[in-house]
Amino acid sequence: MIERREGDELIRLSLMDGQVRVMMCETTAMCQRAADIHHATPVCTAAMGRLMTATSMMGVMMKGENESVTVTIKGGGPMGTLCAVANHGDLKVYADNAQVELPLREDGKLNVGAAVGKDGRMSVVKDLGLREPYVGQIELVSGELAIDFANYFTVSEQSPSLVALGVLTSGDAVLKAGGLLIQPLPGCEDSTIDQLELRSPMFADISREMTFAPKEELLEDWFRGMDPVVLEREPLRYHCGCSRYRMEKALISLGRKELQNLIDEDKGAELGCHFCHSYYQFSTDELKDLFQRASRE
Ligand SMILES: [Zn+2]
Repeated sequence: MIERREGDELIRLSLMDGQVRVMMCETTAMCQRAADIHHATPVCTAAMGRLMTATSMMGVMMKGENESVTVTIKGGGPMGTLCAVANHGDLKVYADNAQVELPLREDGKLNVGAAVGKDGRMSVVKDLGLREPYVGQIELVSGELAIDFANYFTVSEQSPSLVALGVLTSGDAVLKAGGLLIQPLPGCEDSTIDQLELRSPMFADISREMTFAPKEELLEDWFRGMDPVVLEREPLRYHCGCSRYRMEKALISLGRKELQNLIDEDKGAELGCHFCHSYYQFSTDELKDLFQRASRE
């Protein structure tokens, strides 16, 4: 039996003696935090939540301490650009417009696909601490995001994948949010893949399933008879690592010419963080100090 634990986390498992890799995560608190920070409407909370949930799976796959992954979605929908960053279990997200309201779909679900749009691309940037980051890009196929991520893993990373993502809301409240990634590994037997396909309707509506039972119980239920073994559990949280120091670096990177313009205007500068809506003020004297530290180019 898998030990029961409350709260947001990612559970990594193997099935059938390592033939299949599985990741399941709960992201309820993280999605609520994103909704609160961005004053998001339910459909935007769902879109940002699904994006963060899938990005957390990529973040946990990265092994190095300072490695991070950034997923950007430009689908041409009314939300504009969406962007999520994972630094291992630390997630953050923003969207150009998180106040989009749309009618529900015919099946009563939030219309995430229409809010995000599907005429555009998803790009994945993995910063591995090397000079050049890894960049993967793929055309969006639905804008609902689960299918888009499955397509990304299958085509760009050559890992055939089944992905479920869900954020269940009631008004401003996130009731449950989570996701599931299933990847049969090379050499996986056909009978195992058949089993997974047969069971896929069980986890299609994952956030609703999560309201009925703890995630550990769901995993035991879904993968009964497939020898699920927990390999790793990692807590997840919404965390923005921005700081005054980082904003100083951003200002310095503007270069002397831009800084001189700001100094001449004598109104100081205010920098806001897209991810957590913190604001950092700099006086003209402080800008003069940063000017001295900027390169002369
Ligand atoms: Zn921030």
